[in-house]
Amino acid sequence: MIVALAVWDERIAPVFDVARQLVVLSLEDGVAHKQEQVRLSEGLTGQQRALVIEEIGTQKLVCGAISRTLSALIEAMGIEVISFISGSLGEVERALLDSNFNWEKLAMPGCYGTKVEADMENPDKAMNQRGAGRAGGRGSAVCRRGAGTSGSCVCPQCGEKVPHQRGRPCFEVNCSKCGTAMAREF
Ligand SMILES: [Zn+2]
Repeated sequence: MIVALAVWDERIAPVFDVARQLVVLSLEDGVAHKQEQVRLSEGLTGQQRALVIEEIGTQKLVCGAISRTLSALIEAMGIEVISFISGSLGEVERALLDSNFNWEKLAMPGCYGTKVEADMENPDKAMNQRGAGRAGGRGSAVCRRGAGTSGSCVCPQCGEKVPHQRGRPCFEVNCSKCGTAMAREF
């Protein structure tokens, strides 16, 4: 089993869409072997990120927050996405080796549950994605509150901030200064 972890500073990166590093583990006979580290260049599109994940031979991806479109794209490749996870590499490694592990224990603050829930901000979109058969969303944790409806979107490239608009995810907003897709500030 090949598992890719989106990391930052030895922990799961808070936002997969802008994560710069992957740690690839191979799980065999209850032991995790570190296979390789993959650097993701800046400015990769979601689709390019998904292709990297696929090319590595990933069967399971463990990440922090991830946009719905990107998560759906990766799941459509037959890869299990365990998202909205927060924790150190060690914690995640131990969790992966425990087949009965309850991922809620490593859920990001404000996110819990391994149920797929409707996107409160985009109920229509969420319904369509489900209708399109998101592989049942097995094993993926979805943030119940979404990322909330207030706060700001921040540019991972230049730091520009704009107020978050209700119903419009930050990753769909391009920075007015440099054009980079913005990220939700947690
Ligand atoms: Zn910018």
